[in-house]
Amino acid sequence: MFLDEDHEALEAAELTKQTLVDTQERMGIMLDLMPMGLLIHTRQGIIFGNQEAARLLQVPQEEVVGKHFLDFLTTHAEEAAKQMEEAFDGRISVEPTEAEVRTATGQARTIKLIAGALPWEGNPVVQLLLQDITDLKSIQDRLHFLAVTDELTGAFNRRHAFTIGHALFNGPEAAAGKVALAVLDVDHFKRVNDTYGHSAGDAALKTLTQSIQEIIAAETACEMTFARVGGEEFMLLFAATEPDRVFEICERVRREIEQRPVLSMAGTFRITVSIGVALKNEKDNSFDVLFSNADKALYAAKSAGRNRVCRDEPKSQSRRGLTAT
Ligand code: GH3
Ligand code: MG
Ligand code: MG
Repeated sequence: MFLDEDHEALEAAELTKQTLVDTQERMGIMLDLMPMGLLIHTRQGIIFGNQEAARLLQVPQEEVVGKHFLDFLTTHAEEAAKQMEEAFDGRISVEPTEAEVRTATGQARTIKLIAGALPWEGNPVVQLLLQDITDLKSIQDRLHFLAVTDELTGAFNRRHAFTIGHALFNGPEAAAGKVALAVLDVDHFKRVNDTYGHSAGDAALKTLTQSIQEIIAAETACEMTFARVGGEEFMLLFAATEPDRVFEICERVRREIEQRPVLSMAGTFRITVSIGVALKNEKDNSFDVLFSNADKALYAAKSAGRNRVCRDEPKSQSRRGLTAT
């Protein structure tokens, strides 16, 4: 009787042990096949990496052990280190860290990292969950690019420029009065199309864009947003730029466009632009008002003979010294 009880207890213990081993094995397989990278990390280095983590870091799974995760990071290493440290201290970070890793084969990948403490026989151990968001990021970037870009010229589109304009108008630069807007319109563009054809007209719009983008690239101290607002009309939005500088740049834009030949299949020709400039003043309470003021100045530039820069002075007088005929 006594022996039977002993035997039963032994059998139960054996069963429990086997169940534990099975569970551990099952967990191991599950973690290994998980589509998210998992690293078990001590302060010294990695003690386990699943298949996905090895794939992500481009390291054979058996060689992941012993490496240090932070050595793979090329950006946000400090943030990740802080997150790991918090996890070692038993705290859980609310925000995952987004970072770039350089894989063992030199590829760059973007990952989302979540770190958490893991009970491990009394040792300080963290688990790092790594989500490979490289493809997602590049799709997101592409979508963003398409959403903000004008297809023909590669300049920003109207919607994006207006979003920036509205945001800027409510920001600190607006309060400091350092916001200005230039609206540009190609002179007699219909004639360009009529003379050289529509695709030559398109080439002119691209050449104009290139000229302005080169000027922007050279003016690193000025904050400028350049966009095609429609047809042959463009805008140049200035933030934190002194008015004198705004007019100087607009005049340079006008001159550069006038001088730069447009090369097209139908021949080489030149175009000119008229530019209307409005500086934000205290009375302007919205970007739409600023735009309307710049548009009025543009109209004045057209009326005064085109190929010139006019500002929104009271009664929209053209600015002497800036005009060119
Ligand atoms: P103004 O000096 O008064 O601005 O004269 P304009 O001929 O430039 O003005 P108008 O508004 O009469 O003509 C604009 C022309 O721009 C008409 C339109 O066919 C042309 N246009 C608009 N968008 C495009 C485009 O994407 N490509 C080409 N090639 N032409 C375009
Ligand atoms: Mg025009
Ligand atoms: Mg026009």
